[in-house]
Amino acid sequence: MNTNKMKAVFLLKKKEFEVRDIPRPRPKEKEVLIRVKVVGVCGSDVHYYLEGKIGSQQIIKEPLILGHELSGEVAELGKGAGNFKVGQRVVVEPAISCGKCEVCRKGWTNICPLVKFLGTPPVNGAFCEYLVMPGENLFPLPDKLSDEEGVMFEPLAIGLYAVRLSRFLPGETVAILGSGPIGLVTLLSARAAGASLIFATDIIPERLKAAKKIGAREVFNPEKEDVAEKIMELTKGRGVDVTFEAAGKEETINQAFAITALGGRVMIIGIPEVDAITYEPHQMRRKELLIQNVRRSLDTTGASIRLVEEGLINLKPLITHRYPFDKITEAFELVSHYQDGVIKAVIKM
Ligand SMILES: [Zn+2]
Ligand SMILES: [Zn+2]
Repeated sequence: MNTNKMKAVFLLKKKEFEVRDIPRPRPKEKEVLIRVKVVGVCGSDVHYYLEGKIGSQQIIKEPLILGHELSGEVAELGKGAGNFKVGQRVVVEPAISCGKCEVCRKGWTNICPLVKFLGTPPVNGAFCEYLVMPGENLFPLPDKLSDEEGVMFEPLAIGLYAVRLSRFLPGETVAILGSGPIGLVTLLSARAAGASLIFATDIIPERLKAAKKIGAREVFNPEKEDVAEKIMELTKGRGVDVTFEAAGKEETINQAFAITALGGRVMIIGIPEVDAITYEPHQMRRKELLIQNVRRSLDTTGASIRLVEEGLINLKPLITHRYPFDKITEAFELVSHYQDGVIKAVIKM
């Protein structure tokens, strides 16, 4: 085996992957070379796979390596890269913010306009054998957690951040609209934060089943029932304190306004496939709803790891499918078509 080379999966254009041999990177000062072990297939990866872009800004123009949810082990350390040992298992925070711009100086590094985010054009991601990252982006993966669970910390950090950003209080009531991986990790975070009553929705029965299993009191399928009517009925016309919109659909955004209580908060996490959405303004106006968007995560990876290590959150029910490296197209097709009850599919590198 040539140790100067590695395999990487490039997305050439919509729906076309190619495995290439490329030079293996070397860590510079403060960087770590990671041997990638498991990578999750995220909804955003699938957007690139199906459409070649996300919104009007992030467009694939050159072949790109996708993937930003990963766990691996330290293969080589650059000078001053931190307190890691070769062979140590790690979780990787995929965003490298500039550290200098106005929002970075304020500590809001998740909205840094100069951020380099793994697997987002033009930055290559993790569907490869080796990856270099700054040491400060790495977190030790506790012994009792698996490499697969390690993949889930990037999404969990988003759910936990969404809950923190909502200024959630113990005992409050919650609705999760959209029970894909992000909806479900938000549910887990809300429950760990002391949510008293959780409703969840989705159009896929297996996802509703999962939502119920991990803590939703009632789940609803909008194709079969009127979600807003049901939730208002079950809360005696009050609605919930916080609604987390995690589907990115016009329908769910409007449902959020309908089911959130007076003075409540609507957290928008979902990524729409369309460039324009129509919403009904009067309910949210009369109720003085606070509408807050959520962009990725901010400083919640360490806390996410602690919550799982201490048993307050269990990620295992969310990992439903596993594929070897050479079956990546199959994995992307499965996730694109929401087949076989998939929640999170992971690729073993
Ligand atoms: Zn993701
Ligand atoms: Zn910045």
